[in-house]
Amino acid sequence: MPVFDLTGRVAVVTGGNGGIGLGMAKGLAAAGANVVVAARNAGKAETALAELGGRGVFIAFDAADENSCRTTMAQAAERFGRLDILVNNAGTSIRKPPETYTAAEWHAVLDTNLTGAFLCSQAAHSVMKRTGGGKIINIGSMFAVFGSGYAAPYAASKGALVQLTKSLAVAWAGDNIQVNAVLPGWIDTELTRDARQQVAGLHERVLARTPAGRWGIPEDLAGVAVFLASAASDFVTGAAIPVDGGFAAMG
Ligand code: NDP
Repeated sequence: MPVFDLTGRVAVVTGGNGGIGLGMAKGLAAAGANVVVAARNAGKAETALAELGGRGVFIAFDAADENSCRTTMAQAAERFGRLDILVNNAGTSIRKPPETYTAAEWHAVLDTNLTGAFLCSQAAHSVMKRTGGGKIINIGSMFAVFGSGYAAPYAASKGALVQLTKSLAVAWAGDNIQVNAVLPGWIDTELTRDARQQVAGLHERVLARTPAGRWGIPEDLAGVAVFLASAASDFVTGAAIPVDGGFAAMG
């Protein structure tokens, strides 16, 4: 359908070498976009590129490093001559009681999940503005809405990411850049496999609270990525869209 067509568009997906990032990258590539997989682990990226049907390239990237955020956006734009879509998906967590975090642990989570997304967006903005517009998609979490007793920095970073989304949406609407957030529910990835090992009873609690009756899979995020990256969402900005099998709606 033309309104969802991404032919000729260039997307950067941070952390696109696995999990939700790869699920979204696959959707964008299938809709016709060229996808830059920006991540640290090159081995995982090689496997990911094989799933993108020749539409993916890898750029080594560290979301916690200011210089890397800036140079990666510049490299992507230089390589393809444009940058239309940025998915700020790279994310991490450290799980423990809030009273036990060191300042370094706090910063490690915030730097990756929040500051990295801000710096990448800033770097992408200058290119997108020059070429007439763009789409920025920030990956939040249910912990942007609900509190977490075992992941305070993660929840703080994701809540702030939603407010950052709204602020950038307001600031850059006049540049024809739409900025939205996606709030995934519980999706089966490396991140949540770790969480299930560390948090007793998590698997069962998620199943009991999710009306859809299952954990999500990364491919569940492909459709919303295409929607928010395409002309179909040109009048949608500053939104935070749950993709959670009804988790947030459950009383
Ligand atoms: P994964 O662990 O599979 O993916 C995380 C990705 O982030 C990896 O590809 C990793 O790349 C990348 N990453 C982490 N730190 C950095 C960094 N410093 N620089 C560059 N890349 C980095 O987990 P998910 O797919 O689950 O997570 C993806 C996003 O979705 C995260 O933002 C997460 O918070 C969010 N999310 C996940 C949910 C879930 O249930 N799974 C629910 C809600 C939100 P590399 O391998 O190169 O380190």
